[in-house]
Amino acid sequence: MREYQNFIGGEWVGARSGQSFENRNPADIREVVAGYPISGAAEAVQAIDAAAAAQPAWGKQTSVARGRVLSKAGQILEGRKAELADLLMREEGKTLAESTGEVQRAVDIFRFYGGLSYTLGGQTLPHDLPGNLLYTTRQPLGVVGLITPWNFPIAIPSWKLAPALVSGNSVVIKPASQVPALTLELARVLAEAGLPKGVLNVVVGEGRAVGGEIATNRQVAAVSFTGSYTVGSQVYLQLAQRMARAQMEMGGKNPTIVLADADLDLAVSLVSRAAFGLTGQACTATSRVIVEESVAPEFTAKLAARARTWKVGPGWVPGVEMGPAVNEQELLGNLQHVQRAIDEGATLVAGGNRLTEGDLVHGFFMEPTVISGVTPSMGLAQEEVFGPVVAVLSVADFDEAIRVANGVDVGLSASIVTRDLKKAMLYSEQIEAGVVKINQISTGLSLQAPFGGIKKSSTDTFREQGAGAIDFYTRSKTVYLDYSS
Ligand code: NAD
Repeated sequence: MREYQNFIGGEWVGARSGQSFENRNPADIREVVAGYPISGAAEAVQAIDAAAAAQPAWGKQTSVARGRVLSKAGQILEGRKAELADLLMREEGKTLAESTGEVQRAVDIFRFYGGLSYTLGGQTLPHDLPGNLLYTTRQPLGVVGLITPWNFPIAIPSWKLAPALVSGNSVVIKPASQVPALTLELARVLAEAGLPKGVLNVVVGEGRAVGGEIATNRQVAAVSFTGSYTVGSQVYLQLAQRMARAQMEMGGKNPTIVLADADLDLAVSLVSRAAFGLTGQACTATSRVIVEESVAPEFTAKLAARARTWKVGPGWVPGVEMGPAVNEQELLGNLQHVQRAIDEGATLVAGGNRLTEGDLVHGFFMEPTVISGVTPSMGLAQEEVFGPVVAVLSVADFDEAIRVANGVDVGLSASIVTRDLKKAMLYSEQIEAGVVKINQISTGLSLQAPFGGIKKSSTDTFREQGAGAIDFYTRSKTVYLDYSS
């Protein structure tokens, strides 16, 4: 078992409460993974003060110098890949392959923003008059707050931290209490890579107390949040009140449309990986399959057959394709969604149960689940289920498929499976989503491309990831220079 403290001002410090909590392995709760302090607003203030003190010197360094620290951090992370993947698997529950992929993603993110440091700058514009120069520069915001969810314990903190730091900000980050270990390990890695004390601060504790202080403290210039709409909309209001910059990335109800001309085996492969991979605990997971009715029975039978052979178990067992829910509350929530769909008249065609055979009884496992006969107004077609549960909706044609796909109040990722190029292009124009996939799984992103949603999935202002992520973490300044006399 690992014992962690907060990381504030470059030191490992406990919480004033003197209280702590422990996280257990969701695949086998007999294993205690790590212990943490229970911090509150006081530790958040301490961290914000440390960040405010450290920022001016960090902001004055060149972006190239800051980028070197990030590139070095990427190298150190890569050297610790196997150890950190094992830790991620034990704390969050992903399979070893998924955890290793996520740590590799963090390595690549630090490398990307390390390299990008050579390109950060503004624009030179033609001035109206001769002998004059007109240009823009990018400046850091100051102290930024980051609030992150549990489902990608290292990738999400990395894709916020790296652009925030390379831009010259100092950071206070509050990781989700289900999975703080990887964020604290990131702090250790960045310190080893040469990040000055106080530039990155990590506070572990209750969401409302720590996150609330980050959202309301006037020294925090901007907050980037990823999590649920319920919390994100509250934090957004707190930031709006003091007109601080806000980036809220929230849930989805992502569709995959399967048209009658699709290769159904390809469709089953894409939907099953997007719905059951990562235990369905991805904001971009497919949770609705919208199928043209002429192929719906055949597609549903094939998908159900694939779900029944999906191998569920602890992430460290070779061949396992899906780990547990992150905790009991999430597991019970998933099972409740299944029961409610059945009560509303939908048909359970595969899965639907908790798995308790042998040692699985010690974890939060459930069967990959397929539910058909779902109509657009049912809860299962509207509400996010953060687990391996996929709803099948049957539609008459392409136009109805688009209407049903757009008939929700979120729009993060959306996929279509078809061989019809014209319909694929019309879909890409008409679908209400920030990420559009054609003959690809709805999950899976390229770190060099912008990411974000529309409607209630996102504040829909700034995008995360790629070179554009820098926009959120910098403000531009316009300089007019007259050298004519
Ligand atoms: P959550 O909203 O419960 O928690 C997110 C973070 O907010 C945690 O660190 C939590 O401690 C903190 N928090 C809780 N109450 C707070 C408060 N009152 N003030 C400030 N902070 C507070 O979300 P979760 O359960 O950790 O994550 C799952 C959700 O995240 C899903 O809805 C999923 O779709 C979404 N998500 C979105 C994306 C995306 O990029 N759009 C990516 C991953 C996850």
